Formats: sequence, C-alpha cells, structure tokens
Amino acid sequence: MPIHRHAVFGFPVAHSRSPFIHAMFGEQCGVALRYERIEAEPEVFAEKLEAFRSEGGRGANVTLPLKEWAARLCGELSPAAKLAGAANTLLWREDHWYGDNTDGAGLVRDIETNLRWPLHDRRVLLLGAGGAARGAIPALFDAGIAGLCIANRTPERAQALANDLAAAGPIRVLALDDVSEAGRFDLILNATSAGRGGAPLELPGTLPAPGALCYDLSYGAAAAPFLSWAGKSEAAARSDGLGMLVEQAALAFALWHGQLPHTPPVLAALRKEQAA
Ligand code: NAP
Repeated sequence: MPIHRHAVFGFPVAHSRSPFIHAMFGEQCGVALRYERIEAEPEVFAEKLEAFRSEGGRGANVTLPLKEWAARLCGELSPAAKLAGAANTLLWREDHWYGDNTDGAGLVRDIETNLRWPLHDRRVLLLGAGGAARGAIPALFDAGIAGLCIANRTPERAQALANDLAAAGPIRVLALDDVSEAGRFDLILNATSAGRGGAPLELPGTLPAPGALCYDLSYGAAAAPFLSWAGKSEAAARSDGLGMLVEQAALAFALWHGQLPHTPPVLAALRKEQAA
C-alpha cells in the first residue's frame, strides 16, 4: 500500500492537532499516511512547499498566517477559496496546486450536524472580520441564514469584507464598540482572536435571543472568555470551535482521498484529550 505524505504548514505550528486528526481518519478509512508539521514563515513558505512536493507530498493543510499566501501560490482555486482569498487545503494536480477553503463548510457542518442546530432563517452576529470570518460568510449564506451583522474592532475592515462579499447576502456592519445597539441574534459567532490575549471582548448579555447559540471558532483556553460570557447571558447553548477543526479536516481528507471520514469518534478523542 502506498504511504501518502501530508503536512500542515503554519507559523507557529507546533500546537497543531492536525497530525492526530488525520492519523485517526487514515486508520478509519484504510489510508496509509504520514502527516507532519512544517513551520514556515511567510517568506520561506513557497520554498518549503516546493521541497515538500518534490519529496512526494501531494496534500497539505495551511494555517495562520499562511492561508492568503497559499491562495496566491495556487494555479487553481475552488469557489470558496476564491471568495475567501485564502486556502487552508492544497492538492497537487499534475502541474499545479489546487487550493480549497474548507473552514466555512467545516463550521456549518459542526453547527448543523454535530450540534444539530439548523441555520436556516437565523439572524447571525459575526464578531471579527479576519480570515476566519471571510471563510465563514459564504458558507453561512449557503446554509440559508436570514441576515448577517458583522461587528469588528476596526469597522473599516468589516466594511471592506461586507463590500467584497455583498453578493453572498445582506450584511450590516457595526463597530464592536456599538454592538449593544445591534439588537438580538439567534447565533453569535466569535471569529476574533481576542481570547488569545490583548483586550478582552466586552459584550452585553442581551445580545442572544431566546434559544440562541453562542459559538467561538477558537478552542481550548482561547475560547474560555467568550464561553464564560455566553454562560452568563441568555443564550441556550454554547460551543467552542473544536468540532469545526475536525470537520474542516474531514473535508480536506475527502478532497485528497475521495472518502469522507466519520468525525464523531475523532472529536470525542480530542475532547477527552482536552479534558485530561
Ligand atoms: P485574523 O485574520 O488575524 O483576524 C483576527 C480578528 O480578531 C480581527 O477581526 C481582529 O480585529 C479581531 N481581534 C483581535 N484581537 C482583538 C481584540 N482584543 N478585541 C477585539 N477584536 C480583536 O484571525 P482569523 O484567521 O480570522 O482567526 C480568528 C480566530 O478563529 C482565531 O482564534 C483562530 O484560531 C480561529 N479559527 C479556528 C478555526 C477552526 O478550525 N476551529 C479555523 C480558522 C480560525 P481587527 O480587524 O480590528 O484587527
């Protein structure tokens, strides 16, 4: 059986759980693979990706801060990667890299399938306007949300995002400081990196509508402040983004190997590891 070579590129990348996730997928699907972490600063990413390819690598994941760089290195992009201007999954096709962005679809799969929380007709507040927010917006509209409000610390960045993605659906833009005037929402997504340090988010407890879901795209310690706020608010449910991490990985695996892995045992293993 051939051994497929994969890697995740990032800076830093030592924390990445992708090798663990893909090892479990490979075992489950009968695919022999080797999956490593490759640390690459943006200036040397192209060189390291080429070295990986010349040694037989055909499928790679890309994480912060390289997703936009990855999209620029691709000879072909999926519609999701083109809209996001960023790729988190690369597949070598004959003579060029094909880039996809599975973050948005992974988020939607986690919310709708794992959390069993339908997105159709929901009013959504998205906190943050970075790469993760950009990837999430088209997938949220594809899932049939009623409308979207983006609140960002730098409102100009949120406005630029709304302009770029105007074709996806109706988007309202606010400064994060004005979020108390935004009304109530069925789903509140934290796509900021505020939980990783810096000034904490200050959010009014009245943002969630009855029955709302509060979801942080981060996981581990970075998700703790937002989830703690959600616990004190009127939200009915809350979640971190560990399920999104597993779902975006499953979609990458499907692109590389043509099989969509069963994700619940992998998510359960990560949750167990997190609790230990
Ligand atoms: P990014 O492009 O660097 O964007 C960061 C965003 O956070 C910007 O909107 C920034 O606002 C905002 N921000 C940072 N510090 C803040 C603070 N102290 N207060 C308020 N806003 C703050 O990062 P990204 O790629 O979008 O990632 C965002 C988060 O999503 C990260 O925690 C990442 O780990 C997570 N993520 C998870 C997955 C998953 O699979 N679960 C996938 C992708 C990303 P400004 O525009 O004002 O700077």
